Amino acid sequence: MSILVGNGALRLPDWVDLRSDTVTKPTDEMRRAMAEAEVGDDVYGEDPTVRRLEELAAEMLGKEAGLLVTSGTQGNQVAIATHAGRGEEVIAEANSHIFHYEAAAVAAIAGAQIRQIPGVRGALPPEAVAQAIREPDIHHPRTALIEVENTHNRAGGTVIPLDNLRALREIADRHGVPIHIDGARLFNAAVASGVPARRFAELADTVQVCLSKGLCAPVGSVLVGPRDFIEAARQWRKRLGGGMRQAGVIAAPGILALTQMVDRLAEDHANARVLAEGLAEVPGMRVDLETVQTNIVLAEISGTGLAADAFVAALRQEGVLASAFGEGLVRFVTHRDVDRAGVLRALDAAARVAKGGVRA
Ligand SMILES: *Cc1c(COP(=O)(O)O)cnc(C)c1O
Repeated sequence: MSILVGNGALRLPDWVDLRSDTVTKPTDEMRRAMAEAEVGDDVYGEDPTVRRLEELAAEMLGKEAGLLVTSGTQGNQVAIATHAGRGEEVIAEANSHIFHYEAAAVAAIAGAQIRQIPGVRGALPPEAVAQAIREPDIHHPRTALIEVENTHNRAGGTVIPLDNLRALREIADRHGVPIHIDGARLFNAAVASGVPARRFAELADTVQVCLSKGLCAPVGSVLVGPRDFIEAARQWRKRLGGGMRQAGVIAAPGILALTQMVDRLAEDHANARVLAEGLAEVPGMRVDLETVQTNIVLAEISGTGLAADAFVAALRQEGVLASAFGEGLVRFVTHRDVDRAGVLRALDAAARVAKGGVRA
């Protein structure tokens, strides 16, 4: 229930919005930086603010070059299309974002197929990956890429450990297959584990990071990798309509996202922990606390007698927004625009909803 206020702006009531960290608004400083950004035509390579963001992201992730893209999806798909061609195969975790949530873009754009491998809390079992890599044979597609999602969304925001990535790297090197990290929330992984983002990134050839999730920028992701790769990716971005002109107005808040918003992700993680531990105590609800490592909480609610969409609808009546996340699962994502008091309100509301469900 949103209402239009006098000036026509859409105003949401005082809701606790835990649907996603994508709902975060740019900070006041980001808005000022947008207004003041030095700009040029970036398709001509003449936007100094975009170049600064691309260099900054590349440096933070230990890569030669970066490319500002419109979204995480575009970053992943530009990367995949550059790595893998028509009739080739991409190994990815069975519940990966590129499989579930990118509208079959791997098939539609790169023309490749995804080989889904079930993971353990989102981590690809190295032996299974080694077995899945194709031997040359006229019947087989060529294995063109291994994709790793860190943190892993559908696994509950779990961190893919460095050791797992090292094992995958070894296999990849043995077969000459590159690795791409979908690092939409790689900085959450870094903050939660204490492992710098570049240590994860150095085990991959290319990495995509989102600026617009917990880092609060309004728009954009950056793809980083070797310089020649990024030049090829730049053409894919153009082909997909991602060549933007005075994009410095987008890059400026992106720079603040990378320089000022990373460390505070720890607050989101602490809030997720409080929420998860609280929800785990609610009769009818179950939370695997081992998976609550960053800012995502997956709650199993079948014990309340409610379906996930009914649970979410009832929560909405309480002023709390969450996402139905498949059979019996509700997802809560913490972020900068929900403080501890908001999280406690959500907890309270969930307990009431669960109780109503159990009674009914
Ligand atoms: C959000 C997300 C993306 C894509 O982001 P968009 O900017 O929404 O396209 C990719 N991968 C993962 C794991 C995500 O959570």
